Amino acid sequence: SLSERLGGVFERLRGRGALTEADVRTAMREVRIALLEADVALPVARDFVEKVTEKAIGHEVLRSVTPGQQVVKIVHDALVDMLGPDTAELSIDVTPPAVIMLVGLQGSGKTTTTAKLSRLLKSQGKKVMMASLDVNRPAAQEQLAVLGTQTEVQTLPIVAGQQPVEIARRALNAARLQGYDVLMLDTAGRLHVDQALMDEMKAVADIARPNEILLVVDSLTGQDAVNVATSFSEQVPLTGVILTRMDGDARGGAALSMRAVTGKPIKFAGMGEKLDALEPFHPKRVAGRILGMGDVVSLVEKAAAAIQEEDAEKMAARLAKGQFDMNDLRGQLAQMRRMGGLGALAGMMPGMKKAQAAVDQVGGDKVLIRMDAMITSMTPKERAKPDLINAKRKIRIAKGSGTTVQDVNKLLKMHLEMQTAMKRLKKMGGLKGLMGMLG
Ligand code: GDP
Ligand code: MG
Repeated sequence: SLSERLGGVFERLRGRGALTEADVRTAMREVRIALLEADVALPVARDFVEKVTEKAIGHEVLRSVTPGQQVVKIVHDALVDMLGPDTAELSIDVTPPAVIMLVGLQGSGKTTTTAKLSRLLKSQGKKVMMASLDVNRPAAQEQLAVLGTQTEVQTLPIVAGQQPVEIARRALNAARLQGYDVLMLDTAGRLHVDQALMDEMKAVADIARPNEILLVVDSLTGQDAVNVATSFSEQVPLTGVILTRMDGDARGGAALSMRAVTGKPIKFAGMGEKLDALEPFHPKRVAGRILGMGDVVSLVEKAAAAIQEEDAEKMAARLAKGQFDMNDLRGQLAQMRRMGGLGALAGMMPGMKKAQAAVDQVGGDKVLIRMDAMITSMTPKERAKPDLINAKRKIRIAKGSGTTVQDVNKLLKMHLEMQTAMKRLKKMGGLKGLMGMLG
């Protein structure tokens, strides 16, 4: 896998501060090979590598990971970024009927996906009608009618001898008159892109004015996917892409190619022949597949969440002695503020989770600042030994920090809970043990 390869490349660099240009270029050669192996189209891979190279040079390497892992993380993040939004919504919030048209090559999965998507929209409470405009393939309209029966979605009655544009017009009228929310138009494909097909698509789009024109592409198409995407996106105004047969493709490269060439979001992924096998597209999952390294990403993410690893180590040492005083709490609060909440590591510690919930409840940063003010108002002795804080001292601390005794009580309670959690943790082998479990 890519992570192993980069691990080899970077073996000798372990522990260096920043990624140098030479290091990055060496790594990017491997990244490029990985992309091509994942079936990303050559020009797309080239472009991608160029962009990421610039981003990676000079990037700081986290102390707890190798430069190779760091590069993989950068590449992974860039992939996710490029693969686009996590939840690509359909724009069907229009005056009904919303029209969704599916286009693509023959056998790409248009008819199946029409039925899958209809089923999905129906389950969301939409009144859906499907119509097949495929007059080329024998029995294509009947195929959709059968799927309509299976999914209990209405199909437009078949009228022999009608051409696609006529069928589209009839479907629109029917959907309007009968109050459908969504009209799904399944179209004909060809084995290869040809002009007659494109002209037909354009004519239908002119009549139906679809809210969505989704290009259906077989993810196993490989390098040729780019040609398909180019031709379709040049001639019809695509709004998105659906990748089918993602169940049979362990590599996922087509996704990157499609996104790069069309510039449109990938909205769904076909995950099998069954009619419920349609999922929203998950950029992260696919990025992981392309790089073949899910494990590395999660490792690096954990490392990044624990940016203050040194802090954690220091704390581990204290915990080993069963210590957790107000100074430790303050360090934790500062870290929470820096990270905009708790990182993955601290989030797994029982006491911290509770503290986070308390903070979230009252409104984030402000609370953290108030807590910090209270700790500042304590004497060094009180910080080291919170047990000393009696009623009189509480009043003084509240006054000093512009808070109330109630606030001070809450802080003390939180500290106590965390201290208890830390002691429990110590019995489990301490923070180091926990980190071992995570890594
Ligand atoms: P069309 O010519 O574009 O309308 O393609 P069809 O919808 O008729 O699909 C062609 C074949 O691909 C059928 O056998 C489908 O069952 C199969 N198919 C479609 N989508 C998927 C998918 O996501 N995964 C798998 N494994 N098969 C699919
Ligand atoms: Mg079909």
